[in-house]
Amino acid sequence: MDANLKRLLSDVKAGHRLTGDEALHLFQVHTRDVWDVARAADEMRERAVGDAVTYVRNQNINVTNLCVNACGFCGFSKKPGDDGIYFYDREAIQKKAALARSRKVSEICTVSGLHPSFTAQSYIDVYRWICEAAPGIHLHASNPMEVAYAAKKSGLSTKEVLRMMKAAGLGSMCGTAAEILVDSVREKICPQKIPTAEWMRIIREAHSLGIPTTATIMYGHCETDVDRVQHLGILRAVQDETQGFTEFVPLSFIHMNTPIYQKGLARAGATGREDLLMVAVARLYLDNFKNIQVSWVKEGIKMAQLGLLAGANDLGGTMFEESISKGAGATNTDYLDPKEMQRVAEDIGRTLVRRTTLYERC
Ligand code: SF4
Repeated sequence: MDANLKRLLSDVKAGHRLTGDEALHLFQVHTRDVWDVARAADEMRERAVGDAVTYVRNQNINVTNLCVNACGFCGFSKKPGDDGIYFYDREAIQKKAALARSRKVSEICTVSGLHPSFTAQSYIDVYRWICEAAPGIHLHASNPMEVAYAAKKSGLSTKEVLRMMKAAGLGSMCGTAAEILVDSVREKICPQKIPTAEWMRIIREAHSLGIPTTATIMYGHCETDVDRVQHLGILRAVQDETQGFTEFVPLSFIHMNTPIYQKGLARAGATGREDLLMVAVARLYLDNFKNIQVSWVKEGIKMAQLGLLAGANDLGGTMFEESISKGAGATNTDYLDPKEMQRVAEDIGRTLVRRTTLYERC
């Protein structure tokens, strides 16, 4: 192993907090040293959270795919006049929520397109309808972009919208819409989305109101390693302040049906090395995050299993009814049976444990 790398990994294991430059060095490992980075991250995972591989039983309800934005990495959204537009009314939403309840899920996740006629009240209505049809369920919903959109459409502050959402049943907020928290990249891949500072402000507001959130990154398109480090630096700094992130979820870019890939502006997703290092570097650099998730939806279960050997401790959700990654061209994204998760966990000597959204055992 490269001597500098050996010293760095040994320092991290002894309690040294990685600098941005050191994280960059780890992202740039291309040889068999990748396994040493993964091994160090796996050791840190073991120390932080032990050997359990956790998962949540959850279901998505994506209320509509009609969206006023046109993010270049999105294969899910539709514009007026497109084929395949859908919109679920109260009856359809409640039917799906009741179905989720009958499937014994503990979490319903709802994020949707930014419908042209949505206001803050539209989100509140959806949350109330879900909670009415599935009482006791944890509602994991919205994201900083939806909160900003609802606030703008209703002439409210984002903090007021978050308060209203919480009162309507919001249990935790999705940390999506982060993509890459570097404005020069956002201008290329999602120019209409809120800028980095606004994403951070809304996340901080949510945490200050007692609404925990996840933290995400979408990587493997046109960002650089430096951009990735900048993104992780922002997440670590916010977590130092608020302790409001429940987990970090790396989302590997699904490229097939997306405008930025089709126009030649993005590469064809991350490589296996990049997927592995994203998890490992996250475990080593985000020393204030207990939980690092691998997304079987984005990476497939085989790569996700390798992520569990490189610092990750969580397999995400059962994901009844996934449609966003499917829209971008991913396959086999609807539902992963906990029996298969168990097979994958036991195959590497670990135990599968069911959790709630907020990482309590259930
Ligand atoms: S990523 Fe979200 S905001 Fe962007 S186009 Fe797709 S649905 Fe709309």
